[in-house]
Amino acid sequence: MWNIIGHEWATKQLEQSIANNTDSHAYLFSGMAGIGKALLALRFAQALNCDEATGTPCLTCRTCRRIERGNHPDLRIAGMASQAVGLKAEDAARQKELKIGTVREWQRDITLRPYEARRRIFILHDAERLNEEASNAMLKTLEEPPPYATLILVANSTELLPTIVSRCRVLRLRPLPRRQVAEALAAHNVKPDDAAMLAAWSGGRIGWALQLVAQPEAVARRDEQLDALLALQSDGISAGMRWAEQRAKEYRSGEQESVFAWLELWQGWWRDLLLTAAGCPDGIVNIDRRDQLVQLARGQSLAQIHAMAMRIGQAAQQLRENGNPQLVLEHVVLQVATAR
Ligand SMILES: [Zn+2]
Repeated sequence: MWNIIGHEWATKQLEQSIANNTDSHAYLFSGMAGIGKALLALRFAQALNCDEATGTPCLTCRTCRRIERGNHPDLRIAGMASQAVGLKAEDAARQKELKIGTVREWQRDITLRPYEARRRIFILHDAERLNEEASNAMLKTLEEPPPYATLILVANSTELLPTIVSRCRVLRLRPLPRRQVAEALAAHNVKPDDAAMLAAWSGGRIGWALQLVAQPEAVARRDEQLDALLALQSDGISAGMRWAEQRAKEYRSGEQESVFAWLELWQGWWRDLLLTAAGCPDGIVNIDRRDQLVQLARGQSLAQIHAMAMRIGQAAQQLRENGNPQLVLEHVVLQVATAR
């Protein structure tokens, strides 16, 4: 029982490869954040080592349970989070790449035979952040992995060295259909209206949606954030500058993901405006704010709206490319505040 929502083609493929003894030594699971890649990697580790040895994880045997908790001696997990262990929040935030030291540590471990499981499993999260040096070190292991090891690279994009990608069996996970996310949420006792709303917000990221269900305060926070973003257009430039300053401070103190979440929320809003203005509101994300969207879309040209959505996306890109957070954010706020 994989107990995974969606991605049926992927679990079927992995199951068959175990059954036919054609499983690979190296995998790349790619797809957007919050889509279920980490869970799939964990389930695959269970399927490979489950005491029942049926090719499907039973989720109840001792091995499956220990892998689930992440404390099986033949399971190694590394990534940006493990690399940041022991660092101060600020230093951890400054880390943008997976370094060769992290890969080396991993590789030392790979030379060890399994203690008790059939296969030693190595999961590397954030593989898209391997720097060049670390990528090259990685290549050696991918070329000649020990026969008892399975390597699973997990990445939010496939922007890795092509030589790495070509040595892995690649499973590209796609966002789930909105309906499937809504059904899954309903099965978690979410009321139908809320399930529909969260499913729309999620953009098919089931992991993201479930996280929101687990933290009801996050729903309220999202609402507040959206209101704050909309106020940037009406509250004047100095209020906007204060907002930019706060976000820049957050960014520098290690809360980068939070700043990216703001920008994503903001860009999503402008995309919704674009869809509304273009007369195709079916695809909108903020379905709980349809009326507001209709109102705001009036009097703005498609070209203007499109330009703003693009502009916010560019700001996120500039931050990822190490742009000065305050300048980047001030610039975009200024453009929104003056767009009429
Ligand atoms: Zn099991």
